[in-house]
Amino acid sequence: MIQVSEVKLRVENLKKYFPVKRSISEILRGKPPRSVKAVDGISFEVVESDVFCLVGESGCGKTTTGRLIARLIEVSDGRALYKVSKEVKELMPQGIFVYGDYVSLFDKLPSSIDKLLKREIQIIFQDPYGSLNSRMTLGSILEEPLIIHSIGSSKEERQEIIYKALSEVRLNPPEEFVERYPHMISGGQRQRVAVARVMILNPSLVIADEPVSMLDVSIRAEILQLMLDLKSSRNLSYIFITHDLAVANYICDKIAVMYLGKIVETGLASKIINNPYHPYTKALVAAVPEPDPSNRLKMREVPIKSEIPSAAAVPSGCRLHPRCPYSMDVCKTQEPPIIDVEPEHGVACWLYVKR
Ligand code: SF4
Repeated sequence: MIQVSEVKLRVENLKKYFPVKRSISEILRGKPPRSVKAVDGISFEVVESDVFCLVGESGCGKTTTGRLIARLIEVSDGRALYKVSKEVKELMPQGIFVYGDYVSLFDKLPSSIDKLLKREIQIIFQDPYGSLNSRMTLGSILEEPLIIHSIGSSKEERQEIIYKALSEVRLNPPEEFVERYPHMISGGQRQRVAVARVMILNPSLVIADEPVSMLDVSIRAEILQLMLDLKSSRNLSYIFITHDLAVANYICDKIAVMYLGKIVETGLASKIINNPYHPYTKALVAAVPEPDPSNRLKMREVPIKSEIPSAAAVPSGCRLHPRCPYSMDVCKTQEPPIIDVEPEHGVACWLYVKR
């Protein structure tokens, strides 16, 4: 049983709807405004020092969820309670806490608090090529966040911090790397710099959005291991976003599988990977390459049909029903609730609801 005090982040009924632009003819015909329901009422908890994975195909809402938590985009609805670290708590006025050490992330907050939270909750982007400014040296790239957050009282002090950050991500000797530009290093090294740029601010929650998907397979495991090592040495929590269940299996403690803006299955990573219940999760697990055919899950026998529909035209009832081989009448009209099929394992599927 998880104690409330161990929860780093509690997300309740999170929604993000993007309005769809209507054409002139749609306006003239009086067609009502529509929206893309990118994230449609999801709830989850991230336990301190855990790696919580959001898994699903492109367009399922996982990246939007990460950006909402990082407050890069505005929410349409919902709440997120975040437990601030001890160091940052001391810098915050008491009145800001809604409960214990928790602040409400989506409330309008004073700019000084906002800045502290931006330091606490950092995001690593997918693209190590586009996320680093090609005209800046690696030293300047790493110095920029220190200046923004007033860390280090002198150039020399900041340089020390930068050297330490580069060594921590195993870019040695750091004095050589600070002089280089992003185009002078490999993709794996660039992602290490992106990790260093985040860690240099000493965050408490890191959102990693597909951080290894653009890297060669040969160096993915190294970056994932680096992230795990940093988590242990710094007592970090991660929200790890990936489309790849093999990656999730490697790094995650808990998984939430998303489909068209909803969580369809959630629980301990070992339970989701080894014993999936939801037809969609079963199909995802079966799609993971497995060198030993005898280990392959039997779910290859029940493939999910056709392509994922547009998020602007979400099917009624269970969103998977047009693609699901088990679809029943109830699936077409009523959305299934998430029910516990075993301890720490929830599934949203009418197959498991006693009626
Ligand atoms: Fe398939 Fe129905 Fe379960 Fe949805 S609720 S996954 S359509 S069986």
